[in-house]
Amino acid sequence: MEPANTRRIFLLTIALASLVGLSSCGENGDRDERPNLLLVVVDTLRADHLESYGYGRQTMPLLSGLAREGALFRNAFCQATWTGASMSSLFTSTYPSTHGFQQNTLTDNVLGASFVTLAESLAEAGYETIGHSTNVYISKVLGLAQGFSSFVEHEHLADADEVTAAAIASLDGWHETSKAPLFLYVHYMEPHCPYSPPPAHLALFRSNEIRPLPADFRVPPHIDIGSRDISDYESAYDGEIHFAGSEIEKLLARLQELELARDTLVVITADHGEELFERGEFGHGRTFHEEVLRVPLVLRLPSRIPAGIALEAPVELVDVVPTILDLLGVPAPALAEGESLRPLLEGTAKERRKGDAVYSELHIKGPPRVMLRTRGYKAVCTTSGEPEMTEYFDLPGDPGETRNRAAELDDETREGLIDRLVLWRRSMIEKGETLRSQEQAPLSEENLRRLRDLGYVDEEK
Ligand SMILES: [Zn+2]
Repeated sequence: MEPANTRRIFLLTIALASLVGLSSCGENGDRDERPNLLLVVVDTLRADHLESYGYGRQTMPLLSGLAREGALFRNAFCQATWTGASMSSLFTSTYPSTHGFQQNTLTDNVLGASFVTLAESLAEAGYETIGHSTNVYISKVLGLAQGFSSFVEHEHLADADEVTAAAIASLDGWHETSKAPLFLYVHYMEPHCPYSPPPAHLALFRSNEIRPLPADFRVPPHIDIGSRDISDYESAYDGEIHFAGSEIEKLLARLQELELARDTLVVITADHGEELFERGEFGHGRTFHEEVLRVPLVLRLPSRIPAGIALEAPVELVDVVPTILDLLGVPAPALAEGESLRPLLEGTAKERRKGDAVYSELHIKGPPRVMLRTRGYKAVCTTSGEPEMTEYFDLPGDPGETRNRAAELDDETREGLIDRLVLWRRSMIEKGETLRSQEQAPLSEENLRRLRDLGYVDEEK
């Protein structure tokens, strides 16, 4: 059969499936047949350490399997390279300067009630909304649990097996008692440091390669694995990914056992990546390099997403919520700054309406910075005081971002880019300030006390 005909038949099939879904919704007290949603966020997972993104090691076989049954975005990017700001962007489809969750202290941010989260949109549409968080930033007190009818805050950095067991219990509980469709969000903290995967997962990635850390590099205590070899850190990081993947596999297996796999939109992504000593840097939240900026994004919903498609078009985490809601037939919030990727999934568009422009922001560990990435270049500007371009990389010619060419640009090009980024950020700030001025919700004394008891107040993460 001609590919065009195959696609036409597929689109017709999904249109009919949508109609059937709508007509049977809530009929005779039966289970609401709208698709469920499972959103899995794997903290700190850089895309290029996954075999489905070209890595040489089989770190997460389940993701390759999911991509064969659904769609994989090869070029997905986060809007901040640390958890709080990035997850706020993911949940609300707004950029950091709009939602304002930009400080990495636990007391200076609250995601305002005027921002509409994915969970709120789905709760409004009649979904049961259950969340499992293992990251202290994604918490009720900081506003990121808005819209969840049940939100389990596991211990910060709780192990993947504990989270999976609890998430499966939530899934089973919902299945036994509820007729509403389910939104289940599960956040895994592997492969966030410290890198301490169970031995069986670590053993898969032992390496004989010797690549010593620079002599003057002081290994911070929270990442020290008792080695001064970069290969050992990479192996431990990969072991953590494998551990997370094996646990997500159990969650998906349970969906299968409950015969829900066909009718559940599964989305797997990450909030940001990790630098593993490239250019001498370790960790995340400091730079916009590809290692921290590029995240995996895989979606599976057999009735509505063609199987085995890989998309090259650059996309952003702010596009995820409009896409999910579009696929589930739920309106996106008016505030959404991302756009639905459904036309890309269905092959009716090759590129987003906004094209290949990707924005990301950092307001920690240095002056406020905005990044613009296109297929051709990556530019980073400071936007406070006298704005200046601090970095410019020619991505096609220098994909490893080894040569900062900011000083080599002609004045007109440089000034033009600086103006574009300053104006872009200003428009986001203005929108965000209007929204936030309608509310003032600083942390209550009780919440501050709770965070202090946990030992997190003013502590950097
Ligand atoms: Zn994170």
